[in-house]
Amino acid sequence: MGIEQAAKAWIRGGSIENLTEREVDAVFRYLTVNYELRYFNDLTLAKFAKSPLTWIRTTAESMTEQDEKDFESNPEEWSKRQRWITCYSDLPSIGIYGWKFTIQEFEDRSTNGKCIPEERAIAIAPWVKNRKAVLLHEMAHAYDHQLSKFPVYRDYVMVDLYKSLGEADWKRIMNYEGWVENARELRHSLLIVAKCFLLDKRCGWKPGTCLGYGREEEYERVLS
Ligand SMILES: [Zn+2]
Repeated sequence: MGIEQAAKAWIRGGSIENLTEREVDAVFRYLTVNYELRYFNDLTLAKFAKSPLTWIRTTAESMTEQDEKDFESNPEEWSKRQRWITCYSDLPSIGIYGWKFTIQEFEDRSTNGKCIPEERAIAIAPWVKNRKAVLLHEMAHAYDHQLSKFPVYRDYVMVDLYKSLGEADWKRIMNYEGWVENARELRHSLLIVAKCFLLDKRCGWKPGTCLGYGREEEYERVLS
């Protein structure tokens, strides 16, 4: 099965049991680059760029052996078949491109995923490996970490998120009593929380789903 087919199977909830580590990484690279374009143009700052200045190729399609052979025999033809994404070089470079992905058992069974920014890596627990909300959540961590190095841009993103979310969601966020431990233990900044709420909206999920760990029930209670 090719990477694109495997990624589509993942989206449909299909099994990725038989994939090698390298293939899993390729599938998640493929998915996250696509999700970045669809859901994260605010956190990557692409939304605020005037024009795309350069283009880069996603690595997802270059991961198979056949692909490497094709490249060697006819690079031009191979290049035409690749997926390209825009890169905005007049802004700080923020993105998921080049990150590594693994499926990993965590000692703590309540952990669904981990973002390790120092290694530009995301690990997902096998018991939630097909959950889109978990992947989007870890991606939000990845962008949040990168944005924290550019506090001025981060402020603009925050205001943009503020405008994109409705009053009901802000009420849920600000009235939620567990936010202090949430921030301290899980490194959930207000930016991450707000972005997760926005993703819930975009994906038609209950508020709190993308934040995870059963918080949709807690957030439901906050407003009622
Ligand atoms: Zn988290």
